[in-house]
Amino acid sequence: MSFINIALHPSVSKALTEQGYSKATPIQQQAIPVVLAKRDVLGCAQTGTGKTAAFLVPILQMLLEEGSVQRHPYIKALVLAPTRELALQIAENAQALSAHTTIKHAVLFGGVSQQPQVNKLRAGVDILIATPGRLKDLMNQGLVSLKQVKYLVLDEADRMLDMGFIQDIKQIIRYIPADRQTLFFSATMPPEILKLTHTLLRNPVKVEVTPVATAAEQVTQYVYFSEKQQKASLLLNLLGNEAFETVIVFTKMKHMADKISRFLNKEGISADAIHGNKSQLQRQTALERFKRRRTRVLVATDIAARGIDVDKLGHVINYDLPQTAETYVHRIGRTGRAGSAGTAISICSHEEKPLLAEIQKLIKRTITVARIPGDPQKN
Ligand code: AMP
Repeated sequence: MSFINIALHPSVSKALTEQGYSKATPIQQQAIPVVLAKRDVLGCAQTGTGKTAAFLVPILQMLLEEGSVQRHPYIKALVLAPTRELALQIAENAQALSAHTTIKHAVLFGGVSQQPQVNKLRAGVDILIATPGRLKDLMNQGLVSLKQVKYLVLDEADRMLDMGFIQDIKQIIRYIPADRQTLFFSATMPPEILKLTHTLLRNPVKVEVTPVATAAEQVTQYVYFSEKQQKASLLLNLLGNEAFETVIVFTKMKHMADKISRFLNKEGISADAIHGNKSQLQRQTALERFKRRRTRVLVATDIAARGIDVDKLGHVINYDLPQTAETYVHRIGRTGRAGSAGTAISICSHEEKPLLAEIQKLIKRTITVARIPGDPQKN
């Protein structure tokens, strides 16, 4: 059985097989032929749907077909992503999918020394993956030229808007030739994003999979009602269940992430925290340890967790409910990926009940209320 009904370059096919991607996901089935037909794409898809390969596979294919991959590469494809984590994730995918080609990629993000990134750029790259801030910095220093870019990808555009990157993006795009092909992905389409698509895309083909509401259907969801003071002991109680092998615990606040992680370690449960106040190295180390199952629990804030992709992540626990229902869907989308089973548990205090109502409205279902046996909780 082939990955998709299109003959892909053997080196790309080989990489797909090695990655265990035997069949294209719905977004890949829709997007790959459209990209190969040189059309602009407006993709409405969240992380977890396989959207990274949906743009990387056809870009690799086109670069290989053009035969433009030379000994001295120059930037032909630019992928913009909102966070370092997502940029790294995309770079990992690019690495895996281009493993049997001579295509070179580099990843740029802030918070780390720029010199190694500059060295990599000087050596030449075909695909550049970058967060807008660092890219703009390097462009201002005359270290990056986008004059030859033919393929532009904006990933998680709605997050870029949330994080205040839109002006940077507009500035960056001015330096990219107008006759490029643009692939634009966003999980949600608020009005500002739609406006941006009108200026950036030319007659795009819209590809859309699992609207936010249905993405949540792959994940088994429970809610426990607990007052704030009891949340820590409820969390401990839940983690007493060994079936919770790898768990991301979400919290809105950075200091809370630290506090929970310290508490769990004290209770003999290995945990690390990642949030915006941690250095890039600390974040990467924590993530690596978690991926290798050295730590059982990763306590994360929403921004830090963007783009995190952990194989077979069984459980997501919302220590508190997020401010928006969309964020809830993003959080629980960390589990139940690419069709595997996942469970999301939310711990909801009395004050958070209106947020729960918003979430249930968005996902169009009532989340099952659960109780720890013997715990006389009230609703
Ligand atoms: P993404 O939405 O790009 O972050 O991908 C979500 C997860 O699905 C990642 O772990 C990918 O490695 C995985 N994935 C992507 N495409 C496929 C595929 N065709 N078959 C199986 N897994 C895939």
